[in-house]
Amino acid sequence: MNILITGAAGYIGSHVVKQLLESKKHNITVIDSFKTGFKETIKTLQSFGSFKFIEQDLSQWDEVESILKKYQFDTVIHFAASLLVGESVENPLKYYVNNTCNTANLVNLCNKYGVKKFIFSSTAAVYGEPSSNKMPLVETEFTSPINPYGNSKLMSEQIIKDAASANKEFKYVILRYFNVAGAEESLSIGECHDPETHLIPLVVQTALGKRNKIFIFGDDYDTFDGTCIRDYIHVDDLASAHISALEYLEKKNSEVFNCGYGHGFSVKEVIDMIKKVSGVDFKVEVSSRREGDPAILIADNKKILKETNWKPKHDNLEFICKTALEWEKKR
Ligand code: UDP
Repeated sequence: MNILITGAAGYIGSHVVKQLLESKKHNITVIDSFKTGFKETIKTLQSFGSFKFIEQDLSQWDEVESILKKYQFDTVIHFAASLLVGESVENPLKYYVNNTCNTANLVNLCNKYGVKKFIFSSTAAVYGEPSSNKMPLVETEFTSPINPYGNSKLMSEQIIKDAASANKEFKYVILRYFNVAGAEESLSIGECHDPETHLIPLVVQTALGKRNKIFIFGDDYDTFDGTCIRDYIHVDDLASAHISALEYLEKKNSEVFNCGYGHGFSVKEVIDMIKKVSGVDFKVEVSSRREGDPAILIADNKKILKETNWKPKHDNLEFICKTALEWEKKR
């Protein structure tokens, strides 16, 4: 297949590109603006196989059109997006433009230039703040984002679905990611966000002395130890879900899939695991709740397990934390 990947220099995109290159089955073109992705990541990916790289921001619609016109892709995997929930509240238009408008343009160009398959990075944030008795969350659960980031992704989902309804040649898989973490085993690529806001990399940085303490955002939730529970999925398993989605689209029709393991861990359990794998007893402080954090978020993953050939290999918090720690030491 002739595949375009947007946002390939980012955390999840780069892991997907690595797996695609290793499969040696496809002709790969990747684009990234390097606004949040890294040139170094593209260089590292080049050691896994050859692909075409184009430095391009999706907001430059004429240039993006030239690329779609020139290369005649049959599949697009679309990662490029702005990702910070807090920033999306302060600057919502950035999210509606970068995420929603640029996705609409990309889908429009896919339809114009005959791209038949589209795989989209969505998020559990589309579910908003579901109550704990809804867990694990099924894909048909009510969607009700509570911030512009989640809204920008949900609107993008709708645009993709509407485009597919109007054009029977155009099929999609929307993957709703739960809490991705860890790094691939050879540690050639991993997570680099600036600023970092996610629990596992922040705890790992604390274990390594790069931060002097970690805050637990609330220990008065209605969970077994009072801290929030999340469904942490290893990045390589999330990446392989995209490969399964590609294969799924070869034979089947458009679908939305949750990507998680179907069970979760509390903030305290994550901290304890990182203390164990690092051997460091770092400082932990309980602070107030972070706005918009549901007590529990767990994916019901039965649909992706049943409908696709996806077989997660790293459903293991210790492995996730170990690879996150080793990556942080190395980078
Ligand atoms: N969290 C925390 N301290 C931090 C960062 C996160 O206690 O410094 C908690 C957060 O409240 C949530 C969980 O860790 O319950 C996962 O947060 P993260 O930002 O990694 O992902 P999210 O679930 O928000 O997508």
